[in-house]
Amino acid sequence: MNKLTKSEFELALLRGIKRGEFILYYQPQFSLFTEKFAGVEALVRWHHPEKGLLMPAEFIPLAEETSVIAQLGRWALAAACREVRQWQGEGLSDLHVAVNVSAYELQQEDYVETVNAILTETGLPPHCLEIEISENVLINNRGMVDRIKALKQLGVQIVLDDFGTGFSSIHYLKSIPVDKLKIDQSFIQHINTNPNDAAIVRALIALARAMYLQVVAEGVESLKQLQALTHHSCGEVQGYYFSEPLPQDEMQSFLLKYKDAAFIKH
Ligand code: C2E
Ligand code: MG
Ligand code: MG
Repeated sequence: MNKLTKSEFELALLRGIKRGEFILYYQPQFSLFTEKFAGVEALVRWHHPEKGLLMPAEFIPLAEETSVIAQLGRWALAAACREVRQWQGEGLSDLHVAVNVSAYELQQEDYVETVNAILTETGLPPHCLEIEISENVLINNRGMVDRIKALKQLGVQIVLDDFGTGFSSIHYLKSIPVDKLKIDQSFIQHINTNPNDAAIVRALIALARAMYLQVVAEGVESLKQLQALTHHSCGEVQGYYFSEPLPQDEMQSFLLKYKDAAFIKH
């Protein structure tokens, strides 16, 4: 996208939203307690008319530099709530959905009203929505903290994404009402070979447990990593080992397939 100027890019993004070029892929989250899939994370993709399928890294940072991320974020949240509510009605009750939010969105004064309106419109129960805030998002003003508290008041779950990579991991646990920690994939990658990474993961799981928080590990790619996380009593796991992010219909079939059957890797 780097040949476009910022305003051309902004226009392309806005046009893309209007034309329905954005779609959500979903990645399942597996509960190690129930041994069932408990939720999904919504991950946005852009079906660009000339460039094909674009990944978030190719457009989210640029969208964040412009105000377009607010519209894109609102679209993603509404689509995720609507689609998962539909799955719930088609046999996947209790499924939760995690949606990533950018700092810019949390800075908007009407963000909580937007979330509330989307929940009302779509009928998704608030406790089935998880808002993922990347730990790299600097929560730097009272307004943002108050908005996160108000989201929590709505009944929405607050997840700290990429936990362990930001500047103020532990501080955030004091200042905002967190429900769940998502251990960053960089710690999971070498969990079986790097004793420091294994120790950090173990400590993060113990921290979460001591604070009565849920914990999910992202980036699980192998059986060995899964076994290490099971051994350390991690709550939920997510990663290519279970499934890559898939389009809506494929993810629905995947989840229905494993609703009553055990997950077996082929
Ligand atoms: P994230 O929220 O930390 O999402 C995890 C990323 O890791 C996803 O990349 C996912 O496809 C990838 N991943 C999942 N399992 C594995 C694995 O086993 N191994 C490896 N190596 N990677 C795995 P993706 O879809 O490219 O998204 C990248 C980032 O873009 C996300 O990181 C999130 O921060 C951002 N993003 C995605 N969708 C949205 C959105 O709707 N709004 C906002 N604001 N940000 C979004
Ligand atoms: Mg995330
Ligand atoms: Mg992450």
